[in-house]
Amino acid sequence: MKNIKLAVVGATGLVGQTVLKVLEEKKLPISEYVFFASHRSLNKKITFLGKEYLVKELCYSSFDEGFNYAIFCAGAEVSKKFAPIAAAKNCVVIDNSSYFRMDDDVPLIVPEVNSEELKKHKGIISNPNCSTIQAVVPLKPLDDKYSIKRVVYSTYQAVSGAGYKGVIDLKNGISNFENFAKENDSIDLLKNTKQNYELQKFPSPIFSNCLPHIDVFLENGYTKEEEKMINETRKILKRPNLKVTATTVRVPVFNCHSEAINVEFEKDFDLHDLKELLRTSPGIILKDDFENGIYPTTIDANGQDKVFVGRIRKDYSVQFGLNLWVVADNVRKGAASNAVQILEELI
Ligand code: NAP
Repeated sequence: MKNIKLAVVGATGLVGQTVLKVLEEKKLPISEYVFFASHRSLNKKITFLGKEYLVKELCYSSFDEGFNYAIFCAGAEVSKKFAPIAAAKNCVVIDNSSYFRMDDDVPLIVPEVNSEELKKHKGIISNPNCSTIQAVVPLKPLDDKYSIKRVVYSTYQAVSGAGYKGVIDLKNGISNFENFAKENDSIDLLKNTKQNYELQKFPSPIFSNCLPHIDVFLENGYTKEEEKMINETRKILKRPNLKVTATTVRVPVFNCHSEAINVEFEKDFDLHDLKELLRTSPGIILKDDFENGIYPTTIDANGQDKVFVGRIRKDYSVQFGLNLWVVADNVRKGAASNAVQILEELI
């Protein structure tokens, strides 16, 4: 066991808890762990690798005790304030928030795609947005071989992507509907159920609904989630002028994001060769056999660290076009597992 000390910031949240689960599975050579969260979680008990830990409140002096690495999973404001403090004390930060992702001095890493960028870090490394991570895993080998001209993303994103409050909104929506169903013998599907609960996260009920609204709206009418997908794809693929557009949608699924990705290439391609390329590329599981009704779903990807790809077919409306359906566990590959993979590369 090496003498490595790791901090997990936001250890009580959805991503933080999953980081702990992934660390337990991987058994990395780490000798000491400290778990931080907000004042709300002070002294909360966490059982990890068979031992009980008390959560510490994150404060300005938290990194004085000396850490080698920290995984931050506590949102952009916390990262903005505390990641530079940790880095200044020689603690390498792997940050799940969006705060540093587009900073030129901060590598934005998906290990299967651009781990060579890791060596450029200056103390902070960013984990990309969950919806970007699962998209670039298949797009990278395709870009290398056929040169991508344009990408159109349409996403179907789970409530877990909005943290534990997003999950509570869907659970409350389900309970609310169940109560309504008990009181009404025949359910008139055109009549809205009365909403007897307070929303914790989303601007509108998410149960039995789809919200084309993830993160805040920007002046140009896009949402920040859409902007993140566009900019992060360009940065990770090192294609600053790549044409990319996105529509990101929250759907009433507990976990795992699905994405319909439309790609236009500069070069022609053979569909069989392209599928073989994806099948043999790192981090991908191909589930693509429409004749037998085989394609990836959120249930397949739940709890997995790979990116599932299927429904691969030509888009005949343009010269060299392709359609893909891409599904991954947003809390694992989209955040926790990707962060731990980065840590493994550093160790
Ligand atoms: P979450 O479930 O809401 O958890 C938030 C965590 O941050 C909790 O542990 C919370 O502690 C902690 N926290 C909040 N304010 C704090 C403060 N002032 N000081 C210290 N800790 C504080 O959110 P999440 O989904 O895990 O997301 C965490 C981060 O990962 C976010 O930046 C998010 O954008 C990013 N991310 C999430 C996903 C996803 O699929 N969920 C994917 C990619 C990236 P308390 O329990 O004490 O409140």
